[in-house]
This record gives sequence, structure tokens and C-alpha cells, in this order.
Amino acid sequence: MVAPATAGNEQRRAFRREQVLRLLATLGPLTRVQICSLLELSRGAGAGLVADLLGAGLITESADDPEGRVAGRPPKLLRLAPPQGSFLAVSLGHDAVTVAVADGSGTIRSRQSRPCEHFTPIDTQLATAASLVAGLVADDDDSERTVVVSRLGPAEPIDGLEVLGGRVLVNNDANLAAFGELTFGAGQGARNLLYVRVVTATGGGLVIEGRIHSGSNGHAGDVGHLPIEGGDWLCWCGLVGCAGRVINGDAMVRELREVFPQVTSFADIEKAAAHRVPVVEVFLRRTGRKLGRAIAGLVGVADLDCLVIDGALGSAGAPFIVGVKEALDAYTFPGTSPHLRVELGAFGEGADLHGAIALGIAAATPTPLPAFATTRAFARDMRQLSVT
Ligand SMILES: [Zn+2]
Repeated sequence: MVAPATAGNEQRRAFRREQVLRLLATLGPLTRVQICSLLELSRGAGAGLVADLLGAGLITESADDPEGRVAGRPPKLLRLAPPQGSFLAVSLGHDAVTVAVADGSGTIRSRQSRPCEHFTPIDTQLATAASLVAGLVADDDDSERTVVVSRLGPAEPIDGLEVLGGRVLVNNDANLAAFGELTFGAGQGARNLLYVRVVTATGGGLVIEGRIHSGSNGHAGDVGHLPIEGGDWLCWCGLVGCAGRVINGDAMVRELREVFPQVTSFADIEKAAAHRVPVVEVFLRRTGRKLGRAIAGLVGVADLDCLVIDGALGSAGAPFIVGVKEALDAYTFPGTSPHLRVELGAFGEGADLHGAIALGIAAATPTPLPAFATTRAFARDMRQLSVT
């Protein structure tokens, strides 16, 4: 039996190790001296912790000093090691099941997709996913595997995930698209981000303080049922005037076709936008304004720093975003919109796969410290600690 004093020491050591990892996750590479100062550790205690973490492969040490502050022998910098193992993304979409496998840096090594009918039962989709996974990672060790499943509907778990093996997490496809854009795409560097999907179906995902915000019922970020000014149409959800009924690819095709019968798909709209057809540009700008008006309240209340609009808009994105910005300028609290980046997504279809990989990696990476401990002033003080 372990003596109480020893158990207490071990617990303290584990807590300290966690603190070092979270400090590196928050501030980036640090020297041993900086770590000891920040955590108020003696040199000896600090050296012990660092040796433990290096031994476990959780951090690495290198002799580069990017700021070049010190003459002579540069201090060694400690940084988080990329997480080990493989990261699998499984997307259970409307019309396809797609699986991708990436390494700890987020680089996708392989990807496979199999089409499916609309409303395919989820257990059938999971069986398809399991066979695709088996084909992609036959040689990998299950114990090292993190699988993130992107699903339609609320960000809640589903039955039968064990067929995928390893550690399995589930989230909503639009939430994951938001996280994918934040981590690898157009939203890099943002902390509070709203992603709005437009082309396939209106929806959205919300990231608050760098983390997916699913809300109390798994529906946070879904902008498809925000009411539109003057809207009097009935939505399938039972509400009247929902944005999702008029702001999506099919709805735009229907509206334009009334005037231009040759428009049969969103690809036609995109092609016309690429050729700068004035009527189409005006139409897209007006549709963007409707979206901007519908989400302006949310953008202001959440005090976002980035809004990412569906990359699947392609060439139609530029005029659409002009309209979004016009509405945000008009309907958000003065001073909000100048600080808001509005970007076209870097990913179109498949943005959720990038997010699923990003979430798997984030789940295997130490969590940064809370925002109150990471103000710019705090970070600056940390950097200015003297290196001796
Ligand atoms: Zn609705």
C-alpha cells in the first residue's frame, strides 16, 4: 500500500506536470528558467518535472531562441511534442460517408468516401464507416487511435460507435466545420468564431474562447432558424420566416430561375459570379445582406472576432460577403464590425473532416490556460522574464 505522504507527493507531481504542459500550450516554447519562475518552482523541482515530461515524450527540447535575445550559448527551449498516434475523421453526411486519417500535425494521409442514400440509418452509415476505417488504418494500433465522428443533427453521442475502435468523440458537422476553419483554415488566430454554412443547407457552428460551444441541447450556432425581417414563410421546424428557407443553394437557384430558366444548380450561379454577371452579383449581395441581418444580433452578443462564410460558395463568396458586411455594419453595435474579420472559408465540402481531425488532436493536447490568465500583458511579462 502506498503511504499517504507518498500518494500526496505523486498527486502534486502530476498536478505540476499538467501545469507545465498547459503553460506550454498557452504561451508556446519556454526555457526551463521561465517555467520555474512562472510556477514558482525551485530549479531542482523544475528539472525533475522537465525530465519526467521529456522521458514520457510529451515535450521536446531544442537549442533555438527565435527572439535571439541572448548572446553566446542560446537557452534551450521546451515545447509540446506533437501528439502521437493517428487521428481519424468520420463524416456521416446526407449523401456520403467519408473517412480521413491524419497524423498529429493534422496532415491528412489518406481519405475515402462512399456514397449513400438520403436518410440512410445511422447504424448502416457506421458499418460503412467501420469498413472504410479498416481499409485505411489496417496496420495501425487501435489503442493509439482517436476517432471523431461528424454527424448531422445535435452535437450528441450516438449508439454503436464502438465499431470504429479506439477513443471516439462525436460532434455536429457545422460545429466541426467551424473548428476546422479555426484550426487549419480561414479562421486561424481567431478565438470567438461563427461559421455559417450556406450552399448545402443553412447552418452554423460556434467557437467560443477557442472551443466548440455546443450549448445546452447541442444546437448552439445553428443560424438556420433565425428569423428574417419580413419573412412570412413556414419552416419545417414550425416557425415562420426562418433564414434557412431562403439562404441556401437550392433556394437561391429557385429564386434566380424565376428570371433565368437556364439556372439549374448552384454551380450555374457560381459560374455566373465568376464571370461577374451583374444581376447575379446583385442577387448574391442582397442574399448576403439577408444573412448578415439575421446573424447581426448573435455576432454582437457573442462579440465575435471572426465570421467564416461557407467556402463552398466559391466565386459566389465575394459578392455574398459584401452583402453580409453591409448588414453587419448597419445592425451591430457601433464599433463591433470594424474589429470583425469576415472571411470566405478555406474549405468547401469536407470542412467538417478537417474539424474532426482538429478536434481529435485538440483532445490529445493539453488545454490552454483560461483567458483571464492569458491577457496580452501577462504574455508579454512572461516573455520578458530574464534568462539567466
Ligand atoms: Zn425553422
